[in-house]
Amino acid sequence: MWPSKLSSLSLHESPNLFVSTLNGSFYALSRNSGRVLWRLKEDPVIKVPVDVSAGFSFLPDPKDGSLYVITDNSDGIKKLPFTIPELVIASPCKSTEGILYTGTKRDSWIALDPMTGEKLQTLTMDGPQKVCPSNLENVLYIGRTEYTISMFDMKTHAKRWNASFSDYSSHVASDIKDYELIHCTASSTGVAVTMDGKTGEILWHRQFDSPVVAMYTLNSDKSLQKVPFTSFAPETLEHLTGQLSSMWWRDRFLEHKKEPKFYPTLYVGEHENGLFATASFVDENTVTIAPRDKGLKLLEGPNLTPLDEKQNIYEERVTAHTIRRGGIILLLGYHEVPEQDMSRIHPNYQITDKSGSTEKVIPHQPSQKPIPAVDNRDGVSDNKSTMGESQLSFLYNLDLKFITTIILLLLTIGVVLIYFPKKTEESIKIMLKKQIEENRLQDQQQTPFVRKSGSVSCMEYEEVPQGFFQVGKIFYNPKDVLGHGCEGTFVYRGRFDGRDVAVKRLLPECFSFADREVELLRESDQHPNVIRYFCMEADSQFRYIALELCVATIQDFVEGRCEYASDLDPLLLLEQAICGLAHLHSLDIVHRDIKPHNVLISSPNAQGKVRAMISDFGLCKKLAAGRMSFSRRSGAAGTDGWIAPEMLNEEQRTTCSVDIFSAGCVMYYVLTMGKHPFGEALKRQANIMNGEYNLDSLPVTDGYVRRDIIQKMLSFEPSARPTAKTILKHPIFWRKEKQLMFFQDVSDRIEKEKEDCEVIQRLETGGTTIIKGDWKKHICLELQNDLRKFRAYKGSNLRDLLRAMRNKKHHYRELPEEVKNSLGTVPDQFVHYFTSRFPMLLIHTYHAVECCAAECIFSQYYDLDSIKLSQSEPLGDIT
Ligand code: ADP
Ligand code: MG
Repeated sequence: MWPSKLSSLSLHESPNLFVSTLNGSFYALSRNSGRVLWRLKEDPVIKVPVDVSAGFSFLPDPKDGSLYVITDNSDGIKKLPFTIPELVIASPCKSTEGILYTGTKRDSWIALDPMTGEKLQTLTMDGPQKVCPSNLENVLYIGRTEYTISMFDMKTHAKRWNASFSDYSSHVASDIKDYELIHCTASSTGVAVTMDGKTGEILWHRQFDSPVVAMYTLNSDKSLQKVPFTSFAPETLEHLTGQLSSMWWRDRFLEHKKEPKFYPTLYVGEHENGLFATASFVDENTVTIAPRDKGLKLLEGPNLTPLDEKQNIYEERVTAHTIRRGGIILLLGYHEVPEQDMSRIHPNYQITDKSGSTEKVIPHQPSQKPIPAVDNRDGVSDNKSTMGESQLSFLYNLDLKFITTIILLLLTIGVVLIYFPKKTEESIKIMLKKQIEENRLQDQQQTPFVRKSGSVSCMEYEEVPQGFFQVGKIFYNPKDVLGHGCEGTFVYRGRFDGRDVAVKRLLPECFSFADREVELLRESDQHPNVIRYFCMEADSQFRYIALELCVATIQDFVEGRCEYASDLDPLLLLEQAICGLAHLHSLDIVHRDIKPHNVLISSPNAQGKVRAMISDFGLCKKLAAGRMSFSRRSGAAGTDGWIAPEMLNEEQRTTCSVDIFSAGCVMYYVLTMGKHPFGEALKRQANIMNGEYNLDSLPVTDGYVRRDIIQKMLSFEPSARPTAKTILKHPIFWRKEKQLMFFQDVSDRIEKEKEDCEVIQRLETGGTTIIKGDWKKHICLELQNDLRKFRAYKGSNLRDLLRAMRNKKHHYRELPEEVKNSLGTVPDQFVHYFTSRFPMLLIHTYHAVECCAAECIFSQYYDLDSIKLSQSEPLGDIT
């Protein structure tokens, strides 16, 4: 289907920004709007072995093909002084450790229609084409090179590792002058945000299919020109952009003297095409892995949990997770920028020439000779045994990287300075100094780039029929992925104990989400609206949790990806979800990550019925006995855009009410089929912090009832939010039958009451608005005529409207046919007849009669506990 024209509008815009992603997509965009005009799908930018037995001795950087080596002592990760392209160009070569390198470089030119992305021709060395498509006007030529390197061990004769890295021919970023935009991307996701370089205003944000590895514009000669961009941890990026878009945040930041600081890290992540490492900025909330400082070793035995009790805070905040291959453990996440390790310095890094006669030594001192990076590709094909000129250019490349980093830093600083003048200047200077220092160190670093990875072993999977894997008692199909969560979690279709299950595969964390999840599930899954837990198994790499198999998330339902969607009642699903939450809260379990992703829809039972269930207990926290709250420090916050404001406030303690807030957002999201009370994704968390929401998309008829409860759930003040138990009593979940019963019970209850009694007073206060002045004028003629036959009903009296409803229901069978027809069937149409004419009637009556909640007949309508707590609360805000 590629390339595709994503919108008809886009046809009139010509692309002036190109984005290359890890997955191998090449997007053409309009620079100012961020609109994607077309996309070209090529091979992934890096391809490394996913074969486990090969180990992961090297991590490539998809931005430039740099290589990082994982050391087998506790020193962590080291950056090699060469990139994949450089190794390819230097190959064939061998290292002093007996590794043979072979490399290939494959060039192609892709001729494109710049307006549509249509591939007109691909020119390669061995391709069939004889001539360029010269008669085509307005053709864009993109040069792409794939570098592949293979390593063989002379001693074991085994192939050690191979990798390929692809790159587009372009001018380097440092060549560009006066570039007016600032691009920020996420290091682990496809998110990119673009700001105006002068004002810092966010121009657009976009989600690409995978992390961005390069951005380009077109030069006047229609060649690609790299433009600078900065990668951040996604949370950091989201906070930064959220903050930039909110005055309130900016003011608060200055007030609290919180300085936004960004720290350079090396992000190590896993992707479809293997592991990778790339530079990423983080803020102080992101845990950075620094093996030696924190007593955590990068490569060691299975238990990574800090032993020291005092380190608990650290343990809880760690967001990294581990990946194991045989005896080697690699922490995925944000690592401190690799430092120089004195013990690893090799006096001379040597590569033996192909002829074997003379040993060439690659100089270590960075060359000052400027050679444009584009020339690298061309100037090296001559003689592989002479390293001089081309090797110098590699080293120049390192300098370029250094310069680019500084430019990126300056750009970042530019944004920050616009917003956080003076106060941040100092910290940025320090950061810059640190970065320069680190770059220097890196440049001087000379690390042997091969290490022995003897401890790598094969996985111990026993394959079972139909492509399933077995882990203990659990079977799962690695090809049938049901979903994935954060932190590298995968959920597969599986079997356990003769039934279909979902198998959640977790990477063993430094501290274990999995254990916590299972522990809490064991305690709480005896409820139809909490996901059922069956079994947990582990192998040398992962934990596997077998869970009740679900068909979809509530997000799938809203987005139309749930096959049962048409039969499902959104309100029923929500009621069930709140029921599950009430159960958790009754056990003092706070979920902390309620969002549409984490509310699942069960498989249909024998009667074909499905139910909603709370799942994903990874962030759950059990309140200590007798404690009503926990401090913010005790764990990671949930998911931005769904997090209660107090979760982000370190001073405030959080309680079960954080879940109520998130559930309020989820309720609005489901009832409006995808809208969020706090607006568009990027501004959500900032709006949450401002308490700025909008519930205008609720439907008119039921809107007042729904708004009433959602509004309370979204209260900025946690104590003002209702409990899950109270929410379950709210009329939002009442079927029409119950509504009618309530109206009748109220009418019966107030029949004989005097005008000045409390309940009548409460009912009639503001009642005129509810009945639109005179309710009789808003009912049909048939009913008006019918009512006239009986006692006098006062049109200005709400009590009389309720009485009329009660009597017509009571005598429904005796009503003339035309009146029956107008009122419709009991209860649904009948109730709708009145509530559609008087949309505030139900909620108004509900709040007015609250004063009778303690009476036996009304106990089914109210949560008495919550009423006792808030005693003489004024009438609900229903405007
Ligand atoms: P995480 O803790 O990483 O967020 P989740 O438990 O939320 O992981 O699972 C991630 C995704 O996997 C869910 O959003 C959902 O799409 C899918 N999933 C999780 N559990 C099940 C299940 N029991 N049945 C079907 N799909 C599931
Ligand atoms: Mg989840």
